[in-house]
Amino acid sequence: MRLLGARGFSAALNQTHASSSTVKIKRILGIVGIVVVVLAGIAYHFLFGYIVVQNVDGPVTVLQRKNVLHQIGANVTVYAGSEETIVVDTQLKPMASSTRSKVEALSKAPITKVIVTHWHPDHSGGISSFSIDTEVIAHINVLKRLSMPQEGFGLTKPRSHHEFAARSTDGLPNKMVESRLQFPVGATTVDVVHYPHAHTDGDLAVFFHESEIVVLGDLIWPKSFPFVDVHNGGSVEGLESALQAIIQQSKPSYRFVPGHGATLTFDDVVEYLELVSQSRHWVESRLDDGRSVNQVIESGLPGNWEQWDSPLVPTTVWIKMIYDSRTIPTEAIPRP
Ligand SMILES: [Zn+2]
Repeated sequence: MRLLGARGFSAALNQTHASSSTVKIKRILGIVGIVVVVLAGIAYHFLFGYIVVQNVDGPVTVLQRKNVLHQIGANVTVYAGSEETIVVDTQLKPMASSTRSKVEALSKAPITKVIVTHWHPDHSGGISSFSIDTEVIAHINVLKRLSMPQEGFGLTKPRSHHEFAARSTDGLPNKMVESRLQFPVGATTVDVVHYPHAHTDGDLAVFFHESEIVVLGDLIWPKSFPFVDVHNGGSVEGLESALQAIIQQSKPSYRFVPGHGATLTFDDVVEYLELVSQSRHWVESRLDDGRSVNQVIESGLPGNWEQWDSPLVPTTVWIKMIYDSRTIPTEAIPRP
């Protein structure tokens, strides 16, 4: 054993302190690193969530992105045929490529067609993530709106306001629908139908008749009063007409995929039409009696409609939408 003098002992002590300080710093850095990774994981989870895959029937599957609190973006519906795959709606742009990868994992058949139910970014944002060879089908007004800067009102919460820049070509649809488009997929006929001035001025519903499934886009908001984008060509009366037509074009055994939330039954759609129609007539009759919209908002709606009040469309906003539908013109938008 080597004996240390006083200086040697002091140097050894300092070295021990230095090495224990280094260990402490390494430990702290390790803990900080773990905390950063965990926080980044939590942030990623809240921003991007995880994809829930729900098979609705045979070839039809719905992809929903969720975090622990709520759904992120819109439903994406996939028809996976033996020869080709069809996708309805494309998610928000930052989530589009991972959503497309999930679609590709569902089916080996190539994605040949993408149908966009309307221009809102949670439905159309992912167009550019699909191959340039993919047919991207939308109503002509969706092309017009996405080709120009757009404003969105109430898209995330009541009275919110967003501005969207004009899209470049790879973010635009490339096959337009005026009123209706039908095409076969395997033994099935896909029926794409436009309903003028409903949720927006470019809404499409997609019927897979043999599968007895209809994709509605945002024509219905489950557990909420409807969101009618009156500043972008939507109208409450038009939404009512759209729901009437969809019920006539469907059978009681059909199931319906809304833009957000769980699938609905035929009876759910009938109940929703009654909600839209009856509450619209209730509000309009009071406006016709000479009350101001603020007076109608102050008195509210009868209690049996309270269950439809939601953070996205509270009762006050729904009454205002009915009023705005009568006062804001739904004229054709200009060409880009
Ligand atoms: Zn929408």
